[in-house]
Amino acid sequence: MQRSHELFERARQHIVGGVNSPVRAFTGVGGEPPFIARAEGPYLYDEDGKRYVDYVCSWGPMVAGHAHPEVVRAVQETAAHGLSFGAPTELEVRMAEKLKAMLPSLERVRMVNSGTEATMSALRLARGHTGREKIIKFRGCYHGHVDALLVQAGSGALTLGIPGSPGVPEAVVEQTITLPYNDPEAVRECFGRMGDEIAAVIVEPVAGNMNCVPPVPGFLEALRECCDDHGSVLIFDEVMTGFRVGVQCAQGRYGITPDLTCLGKVIGGGMPVGAFGGKADIMASLAPEGPVYQAGTLSGNPVGMAAGIANLSLVDTPEVHRSLEEATATLIDGLRERAQAAGVPVSFNQAGSMFGVFFTDKAPVTTFEDVQACDLEAFKVFFHAMLDEGVYMAPSAFEAGFLSTAHDTPAIEQTLAAAEKAFARVAS
Ligand code: PLP
Repeated sequence: MQRSHELFERARQHIVGGVNSPVRAFTGVGGEPPFIARAEGPYLYDEDGKRYVDYVCSWGPMVAGHAHPEVVRAVQETAAHGLSFGAPTELEVRMAEKLKAMLPSLERVRMVNSGTEATMSALRLARGHTGREKIIKFRGCYHGHVDALLVQAGSGALTLGIPGSPGVPEAVVEQTITLPYNDPEAVRECFGRMGDEIAAVIVEPVAGNMNCVPPVPGFLEALRECCDDHGSVLIFDEVMTGFRVGVQCAQGRYGITPDLTCLGKVIGGGMPVGAFGGKADIMASLAPEGPVYQAGTLSGNPVGMAAGIANLSLVDTPEVHRSLEEATATLIDGLRERAQAAGVPVSFNQAGSMFGVFFTDKAPVTTFEDVQACDLEAFKVFFHAMLDEGVYMAPSAFEAGFLSTAHDTPAIEQTLAAAEKAFARVAS
């Protein structure tokens, strides 16, 4: 790790914490991050030449594996024609058509540059459309670093133990109601008290920022019912789950249709791309058709559109998702066997090619409290043992794992051999 160490030292002199997104600094697990030189298929290669089987997949986008030739070719060919025009392009139309063909609830869409922009804009749209200000979010869910949503958030904020954030005005978060995830009764009770003041409910339909917690039966149904009864906008934040947990995202998997959907990650194939969309009458409130303002100099960027369309085209059939899900189940079964053999209590969750490993004897893990009760020290030992053995898991106990179509049998076997040693280290 000599070169990574030197780069981290240099980075810390110039970049806050040495990283451009907090979780990358390994604060949640200790130690120093490897600096990545390149990636291909299921593997990352660090600056010291070490190879890792990668279960972070750039935090989700690389569903077809790293540097997929078709995505790389689309980027190279498009870049040769110019990087940005600030004017409409055919690629934006093709992206919108592709998204709509894959996800029927998207009657109209708007492209943005990140997941954060997607949730921020969807929230403004829901408020502008309903003329209401209050929103509901769920504890442990993360929707990007939007002021109004940075309350009891998961992901990096949870990893660093930050309940909110200095710099977020009180007046903004006063309009944010936080409720427990997977608790339909809490939602009904809240709507019973103030349903007609609620502009929107925003939810990760599979929570992926407090590790991986799928919805319990009846939870998403209750959200749909309450929003329908009170004229509130139901927003599914599918930035992580979109085209990841199924060919029609979480909404197809669980059979609940939101009013608005936020997307990111997979739809950019590794480029900075996000989108939001949904019911035509709500989307018509957006500028230039309506009064709710939203814009972006680089939104719909041609290179991003080309990468995204190519990435989506690699995962646009049910068969691809079925085989991703099978590979993920094979991995989890193998991990479970090895944990049991070592006598380490571990519980697993899975939704498509997203998975969660929890150091607890509670199974299944369904709530934020369950996640918080897990053994963090055991996770840290496991994480570092896996890293030593050439397996790169998320450097936080509060992040989901991801597989790609490139995770083949040799990659999974290497992972399981590493896990045997890692669980033994946890047990010792
Ligand atoms: N929403 C969810 C569910 C996410 O997982 C994330 C990022 O991890 C975001 C929103 C924010 O996306 P970005 O980091 O692209 O701003």
